[in-house]
Amino acid sequence: MNECRGMDVQDDSLNAITEQFITGLSARLARIERALASLAMRPAEPPVLRALLRECHDLAGTGGAFGFTSITTWSRQAEQRARRLLDDGLAPSEADLRDWRSLLALLVAERERIASDTNRRTETIVTVHDEVNVSGVVLIVDSDPHTHHALTQRLHDKGLVAVKAANLADALAIVEVRLPAGIITDVTLTDGSGYELARHVRKMPGGHSTAILVVSAGNAFLDKVEAIHSGSDGYFVKPVDWDVVGERLGQLLERQVRTTARILSVEDDPDQAMIIRTYLESAGYQVQICRDPQTFEAAISTFQPDLVLLDVSLPGLDGYTLARYLRQDERHTTLPIIFLTGHSQMSDKVESLRAGGNDFLVKPISPAILVATVAAHLERAALLKGLLDRDGLTRLLTHTAFWQRAKAVVARQHRHTMSSAALAMIDLDHFKSVNDRFGHPTGDRVLVSLATMLRQSLRPSDVIGRYGGEEFALLIDDLRLEEAERLVNRLLSDFAAVAHPAPDGSTFHVTFSGGVAMFDPHEDVDVWKERADKALYQAKRAGRRQVVVHSKTDAPETVARGESAT
Ligand code: GH3
Ligand code: MG
Ligand code: MG
Ligand code: MG
Repeated sequence: MNECRGMDVQDDSLNAITEQFITGLSARLARIERALASLAMRPAEPPVLRALLRECHDLAGTGGAFGFTSITTWSRQAEQRARRLLDDGLAPSEADLRDWRSLLALLVAERERIASDTNRRTETIVTVHDEVNVSGVVLIVDSDPHTHHALTQRLHDKGLVAVKAANLADALAIVEVRLPAGIITDVTLTDGSGYELARHVRKMPGGHSTAILVVSAGNAFLDKVEAIHSGSDGYFVKPVDWDVVGERLGQLLERQVRTTARILSVEDDPDQAMIIRTYLESAGYQVQICRDPQTFEAAISTFQPDLVLLDVSLPGLDGYTLARYLRQDERHTTLPIIFLTGHSQMSDKVESLRAGGNDFLVKPISPAILVATVAAHLERAALLKGLLDRDGLTRLLTHTAFWQRAKAVVARQHRHTMSSAALAMIDLDHFKSVNDRFGHPTGDRVLVSLATMLRQSLRPSDVIGRYGGEEFALLIDDLRLEEAERLVNRLLSDFAAVAHPAPDGSTFHVTFSGGVAMFDPHEDVDVWKERADKALYQAKRAGRRQVVVHSKTDAPETVARGESAT
């Protein structure tokens, strides 16, 4: 009890000076802003530059003392830029000013977040040693202050922090410093387009996981194909219902959060079961206990665990038998199994390995060891699954994994009959001759370049697979037939324009043919695939380097039975 009182006193005094720091933060940031405004008018002003440096230096130091690591990081970056210029006797350039302004925007957003955080007391204490979580930063790019105003509060209500940029250059500078969790950008920016920003972000390392929404002004034409091609996740036309935009962003961000892993524990002792549940649930896992081995099979199929904890001594049979039973099923070859046993004999360890167990823990188990072991095996299993689902050369989904995802999309389509989905089959033209002329390794590089282009040109939510050797499949959600046709044609012209390097130093070009079919809720996915194949076959027959769509009114009889598309 006494210890607790001591902590409280410390908390309170720390809290009071933290409040002071936060109150003073506005004034510090305002001074930085004034220095930047002054440098923008007259860059060659060393005293102002020195004042800026000092301000940033102090902020970095105090920010760190209070555990606001983001504040420290960003002000340190601003400080270093100023120091370099002073050391070299240079005046700041446009680029320097832009960088400072984007750092300032991040600092202002962080100040707002801290100031409005009602849980600050605990968080301040926790973050003294921890990285401040800035995963909830959303960049709003729009020259219209109304947009900023409409979105800031809505994002704030969702626990997100808005960072503002008025144009493309500022937005690019901000994403360089730190990739935000989400971006909402106007299509028409004073110095470029929102599509450019999306394309840039998608090409950055890790840029795949940022949720990007584009919004177009009422009179500007919103090009859905361009939006998808740039890699945006969604598009809206002004006047937009900002609640809908906020909701959509929320959904996209949620998808990024890894779904909590499910752990099935087979344990007949209720006390032991309770301990396991408590430890693992407090570590954030979803736990189900199976008390009776008779219900094991049902638990596996309904709960679909990501990891299984097996008690060795169970009524009627032992954990090893259950493990052997699991391992017989091909679907569970990568499912991690950890045994819990009361003995630490070598023979038990050997037996657990022979039964297909991944690990072996001896009771009484320590919470730290249980959680660490579970986490390590989950991570390895996820890695393994990722490797199994992806083709080694292109890192695209394998044939099987592609159809698994495609079926999930189809199931979703059935629930929301309003939206539409397109399947595109793509096959490289005369690829055999590419290999013949330039060699197989060069052919491989062409396949990788197409895969990279597809990944960068489509949304993260689109499903892309390497269907066969030089055949690719795309499943693109939420667009109409004409839009799908235009999108695949766009991919074709982009790819055809790529100059591939040949071993002799020259360059060559490769094209593809594409077949597109729209999903029809009344038919099977296999029929859908057949229709896309037929369209592809027609494209090949008509001379290649083109995209054919399969519309229901086409006479499919033009395709002879038994012939294949390649
Ligand atoms: P078409 O325009 O009719 O599709 O002609 P094509 O030559 O592309 O078609 P075909 O089906 O006759 O040949 C496919 C070629 O793709 C043959 C095969 O060597 C090549 N290929 C398949 N997988 C790979 C691969 O992984 N790497 C390389 N370099 N070539 C591959
Ligand atoms: Mg037992
Ligand atoms: Mg081919
Ligand atoms: Mg082929």
